[in-house]
Amino acid sequence: MNKFNLGIILKGLNFHQLKKIIFLLIFVNQIFLAQEKMISITIDDVPNTSEYLYNNFTPILLNILDSLEIPFAIFINESKILQTDSIERNKALLNLWIENESSTIGNHTYGHLRYSNVGLDSFLTDVEMGERFTIRFANRAGKPVKYFRFPYNDLGKDSIQHFQGKSYLNSKGYTIAPFTIESSDWMFNHVYEHYLKTGQIEKAKNIGEMYKEKTMQIVEFFEKMSLAKYGRNVKHIYLCHDNKLNADYLTEIISELREKDYQIISLDEALTDPIYAQENRYYKKWGISWMYRWIEKNEERLKWMRQEISLNEIQELYETFSKVK
Ligand SMILES: [Zn+2]
Repeated sequence: MNKFNLGIILKGLNFHQLKKIIFLLIFVNQIFLAQEKMISITIDDVPNTSEYLYNNFTPILLNILDSLEIPFAIFINESKILQTDSIERNKALLNLWIENESSTIGNHTYGHLRYSNVGLDSFLTDVEMGERFTIRFANRAGKPVKYFRFPYNDLGKDSIQHFQGKSYLNSKGYTIAPFTIESSDWMFNHVYEHYLKTGQIEKAKNIGEMYKEKTMQIVEFFEKMSLAKYGRNVKHIYLCHDNKLNADYLTEIISELREKDYQIISLDEALTDPIYAQENRYYKKWGISWMYRWIEKNEERLKWMRQEISLNEIQELYETFSKVK
């Protein structure tokens, strides 16, 4: 239909008919918006200085993210600077992550202590120790350090600790970084590295493929849950780690997400979704998805959690290889 014909048709319509057409267009637009798929990539336990040393001081995962030209958020554990002997180079590595134009910066504590175990005082010290270089480097790069992610996503052992931790972080100007999707990449990575180190390359590849497959299944699960609960696909936040597995497989995961029409967005943008304004109603220490935390009734939460994709196979391998030293 060309403009001329459309003009004639619109001219022939009365006010009520025009109003109906406008409402219909708004409705169709909303359906398209509801189908838009967006996800933010967030990376914990940065910087992985052991991998950096092992790879001759090449920041492989950072280089990959840079070449993908996607926004990403990093959550830093400054204790990692002291994990190998190359302290000055490790500091420079941290700086590279921070000054990268696509990175959003978050504190993940200095030593990755578990809040519910160590209690409030030690936790606060760990948060503040985690700011030493991060804030200095971020200032130099002209970036804020406005996010905080709890190690293990352990927000405290009960509602009192939850409240205390949250109040303290808010008073320091931090926003607690949630996530909706994670696929236990740390467990896959442990098994993956075990196979690589013992020369079992084929087995390692199988683990990498399994990681990709399970991640995509979990994405699909949370898509379904999102549609069921909110009538649309929410702006998701994916949590993974700075490890060898993601250096080797995150590119493929990103391209599979894109094939499924996902747009990769920044953490700032993801958090503009009103779902993140909801209250966290889960007061235990376990690091579960915020998709579950927003559910009021425990029974309903458990109903959803029971439907999540099984990771038993990798868990069994992880447990076996965690015992072998
Ligand atoms: Zn962590």
